[in-house]
Amino acid sequence: MAGQSIWVFAQQRNGIMARTAYELLAVARQLLEPDSGAITAVLFGHGVGGSAAELTSRGADRALVADDPSLAHFVDDQYADLLRQWISNERPDILLGSASLYGRALFSRLAAILDRGLVADAGSLSLHEGRLRVIKATYGGKAFTEYEFSETKPWLVTLRPKSHEEARPGSSRGSVEMRAVDGLGPAQLRVVAAETVAAGTVSLTEADIIVSGGRGLRGPENYHLVEDLARVLGAAAGASRAIVDAGWVPYDQQVGQTGKTVNPKLYIACGISGAIQHLVGMQSARVIVAINKDPDAPILQIASYGIVGDVFAYLPEITRVFKEKLGA
Ligand SMILES: Cc1cc2nc3c(=O)[nH]c(=O)nc-3n(C[C@H](O)[C@H](O)[C@H](O)COP(=O)(O)OP(=O)(O)OC[C@H]3O[C@@H](n4cnc5c(N)ncnc54)[C@H](O)[C@@H]3O)c2cc1C
Repeated sequence: MAGQSIWVFAQQRNGIMARTAYELLAVARQLLEPDSGAITAVLFGHGVGGSAAELTSRGADRALVADDPSLAHFVDDQYADLLRQWISNERPDILLGSASLYGRALFSRLAAILDRGLVADAGSLSLHEGRLRVIKATYGGKAFTEYEFSETKPWLVTLRPKSHEEARPGSSRGSVEMRAVDGLGPAQLRVVAAETVAAGTVSLTEADIIVSGGRGLRGPENYHLVEDLARVLGAAAGASRAIVDAGWVPYDQQVGQTGKTVNPKLYIACGISGAIQHLVGMQSARVIVAINKDPDAPILQIASYGIVGDVFAYLPEITRVFKEKLGA
């Protein structure tokens, strides 16, 4: 794609770069023909200047950084307003973001402000005769839809996290530009408190392995069985909505249509029936293991490996064996 300009919105939290930023850089690089066009990584936050070099070392030709106390927390309208200003000045052709919680909020707002089309939660991107085509799963993963953008730019796309390999670090070729934050109106939202997930906890959307529990665990006192295996495997612990609604675990652990969309290498579902609303959030996992005592449970129809049996018999035993093998 000769001469095109691709911007990647690099998301960070508390100064820690989301790994999806590196996936977006890899996707951007694949779209460009060798030695043509340019990739710009955009980074907003406070005290984040040091992270910009990581973006240039992973393929950004330049990093544009806004480092300001007003940007310390993600606030939809402030971030969107600043990004709109920069886009209006420099007119990139393509804008890529992650279909994370923040990315979804930011890009839909931006699309509305700019009056441009957005393909959200995309799986893959390619160029055909200078037009961007995007494929995304629809109808809960039962079908794939292909979109082609019209001529009006910029083209906005959010990509499903963990759907691509990350760009690897190399020698940094790019420049880092620190920019002043001017002309931002007052925010309509104010972050009153931000709760940090306990150190060492693996984030669901970034995890390679997820162990999830459902109502088959019978009560909150048994959810530790899921956490025990997750700890041994260095995995994230997830949940079905049934047990979130019942108050066993917090909402940020919910996987599914109204929770998080995850894309791990391995998903272990324990006592989860596999309702369609759960499946849409996890069925793109590369390997799915399900433990369920009902041989007709829908989860067993999509599982790579199904264990028809009692979760209370199998789960502690699986944890014990992995603990032994991994020395964890
Ligand atoms: C608009 C809407 C949005 C929704 N969004 C979501 C969402 O984001 N995420 C989500 O998960 N759900 C969502 N749901 C709810 C969804 O429809 C299901 O109700 C929910 O996923 C069921 O959770 P579960 O599998 O834990 O429970 P259940 O459906 O009750 O399944 C429990 C399973 O455990 C098995 N079991 C029981 N005892 C044992 C045992 N001892 N050993 C092994 N297996 C055992 C049973 O055979 C059963 O299959 C949504 C629903 C609606 C209407």
